[in-house]
Amino acid sequence: MTQRSADVVILGGGSGGYSAAIRASELGLSVILVESDKLGGTCLHRGCIPTKALLHAAEVADSARGAAQFGVSVGFDGIDISGVHQYKDSVVSRLYQGLQGLIAGHGVEVVSGRGSFVGPGFVEVDGETIAGEHVILATGSQSKSLPGLEIGGRVLTSDQALTLDYVPDDAIVLGGGVIGVEFASVWASFGAKITILEALDRLVPNEDEFASTQLTRALRRRKITSKTGVRFAGVEQDGEAVFVSLESGDTLEAEVLLVAVGRGPNTVGCGFDEAGIEMDHRYVRTDDRLRTNLPNVYAVGDIVPGLQLAHRGFQQGIFVAEEIAGRNPSAIDESGIPRVTYSHPEVASVGLTEEAARRQHGQAVSTVTYDLAGNGKSQILKTAGAVKMIKGPEGQVLGVHMVGDRVSELVGEAQLLYNAGIDVAVAASLVHAHPTQGEALGEALLALAGKPLHVRG
Ligand SMILES: Cc1cc2nc3c(=O)[nH]c(=O)nc-3n(C[C@H](O)[C@H](O)[C@H](O)COP(=O)(O)OP(=O)(O)OC[C@H]3O[C@@H](n4cnc5c(N)ncnc54)[C@H](O)[C@@H]3O)c2cc1C
Repeated sequence: MTQRSADVVILGGGSGGYSAAIRASELGLSVILVESDKLGGTCLHRGCIPTKALLHAAEVADSARGAAQFGVSVGFDGIDISGVHQYKDSVVSRLYQGLQGLIAGHGVEVVSGRGSFVGPGFVEVDGETIAGEHVILATGSQSKSLPGLEIGGRVLTSDQALTLDYVPDDAIVLGGGVIGVEFASVWASFGAKITILEALDRLVPNEDEFASTQLTRALRRRKITSKTGVRFAGVEQDGEAVFVSLESGDTLEAEVLLVAVGRGPNTVGCGFDEAGIEMDHRYVRTDDRLRTNLPNVYAVGDIVPGLQLAHRGFQQGIFVAEEIAGRNPSAIDESGIPRVTYSHPEVASVGLTEEAARRQHGQAVSTVTYDLAGNGKSQILKTAGAVKMIKGPEGQVLGVHMVGDRVSELVGEAQLLYNAGIDVAVAASLVHAHPTQGEALGEALLALAGKPLHVRG
């Protein structure tokens, strides 16, 4: 039998792997994509898309519940969770169908099965060796737990939480990062009483401190309890409840416990270690051109240390395909990748936090915080929050941090400001349509340029 071979063989068909496949085929390279489960990976089937569908259902519930404040009479009868799942699953399956068509349309050969890397130029799937002049590792990540914390029954990760066929009366969310806050927000909108436990001293600890403060305040207004600086000690469960004990000696009780303490790389059993790939705490170590230590072997997505985000995976996949095709793409600036916590309200940011900016640039850094109370559209939507913008010594935008409903839609402009390194004085002359939430960015720029408009002196 002739051995299957291609210019590029990719292990894993999630955001990182399939984007590399599409771009490589656009550039005229032949591609074999090996996937053990479903094309689209975590993002499409267990991550970004289904959670955002839940969040949209949660937003509809909040709108129905709060309709009277806008003078609209609507009755809220509760959540039909099977209807919510039907809606969520229909979104996923439509996108999944589209993705399969897209991949086929690009002439990418998909091989179903669990593959392992056996050395530069070779991948093995179910006993078959596939040869690739270049190999891209893109095996993604999975939910982590803590030592002694077993998942099962009423102790869930995001995977089980996404298909839970009831709305818990109350839930404890272990971990106040992106995924924990998202589920806390969804379940609270569905009517559950939520307690978030975070070991560090603030929620969304990777964000600027300003965002953590604003978010905590907003969640408190929604009656979501956050306990920070608390350490998990153990959990027990019976047919009715989970009992979570803390190192402080306190015990909390709820119907379910969601473990949202981060995600670890999917690299064990994929042959990486055995084939001599240099690893870093189970992540694949790469240089800034996403090359591993072995020739013509690259890694993209969640297995590469850094932000675990689908759009980072897309960007890295495109980058590696272009690198292989000899296009010499510019290296990706990790700080220039937008970050969003999708909740009610949202947190969106790009660039440096104030702390990092001061570390890098010293005291020549200045900041402005514009309260959404002065933004007409935010008042129409009845959302609270603020935009904080950080200016560097050369007048460039070093970071943008936003909290409020729908602010994820502003992060596109914010990333242009940061990534293009535009001077705030120039950017301040850009006109923002009125009334939009985008005006909040315009106001922050005007203030940083020394000519604040809708800001009290
Ligand atoms: C609940 C949740 C919500 C999220 N929300 C967002 C969000 O809103 N925005 C965002 O940007 N990111 C979000 N993420 C993160 C995002 O899903 C990941 O960053 C992204 O999916 C990573 O892409 P990847 O290609 O590296 O890995 P994955 O998407 O995990 O894909 C890896 C693929 O490789 C396959 N695979 C693994 N091992 C093998 C093997 N040996 N052989 C063959 N195939 C293999 C897997 O089946 C999988 O399909 C979320 C994640 C979760 C869990």
